[in-house]
Amino acid sequence: MRLILLGPPGGGKGTQAKRLQDDYQLAHLSTGDMLRAAVASGSEIGKKAKAVMDAGQLVSDEIVIGIISERIGQPDARKGFILDGFPRTVAQAEALDVMLAKQSIAVDAAIEVRVPDSMILERITGRFTCSKCGAGYHDKFQRPKVDGKCDACGSTEFTRRADDNAETVRSRLDAYHAQTAPILPFYEKKGVLKVVDGTLPIAEVTKRLKEIVEGASVG
Ligand code: AMP
Repeated sequence: MRLILLGPPGGGKGTQAKRLQDDYQLAHLSTGDMLRAAVASGSEIGKKAKAVMDAGQLVSDEIVIGIISERIGQPDARKGFILDGFPRTVAQAEALDVMLAKQSIAVDAAIEVRVPDSMILERITGRFTCSKCGAGYHDKFQRPKVDGKCDACGSTEFTRRADDNAETVRSRLDAYHAQTAPILPFYEKKGVLKVVDGTLPIAEVTKRLKEIVEGASVG
């Protein structure tokens, strides 16, 4: 199974990808996570990407395509994957097709998790993750059961993304509409585009995604 989760920043792609990866043994491939790891490691790619990410703009196609083509060939990803945050431009979508064609495979479903801009600011500025296990939380919508303690691993340390602030959100949404939304018709033409209402509760979105995944795997 090869899935792409599309949709705006803060729309829930990462949250949903984490939920699906265990159930279907899929590798969760997040270019945002890979780029943040590159920034944290101080690598050349990280140095180039940092300022662009802080400004809420897109890192160059060349860098991102390079990262993903290396990752997608690894054994776990060859068994199946969920792409989260890639492709983000038509050039990336076309490059992905070429990568997959080399392995004689194709995307089974590209799912747009649809959320209106008006909901994004509150979602993004309230989110934080456990520094130890990466579990995701939100100040308003998903607080840990015990304040200050991760439900999953008990850690008391949390982090917030540098780009999850009000100023950067506007640029990220602009980038989404200008550069990423145009890939929706690309997948529609291939007959693999599905839409899920991302404003629903997290568990309901997961349920609907699973229905699509299971439909795609038998269909
Ligand atoms: P995300 O974690 O998906 O929200 O990505 C965080 C930031 O990383 C984005 O705002 C971009 O600056 C950069 N980024 C992630 N994925 C891509 C991509 N496929 N193409 C270009 N830039 C990306």
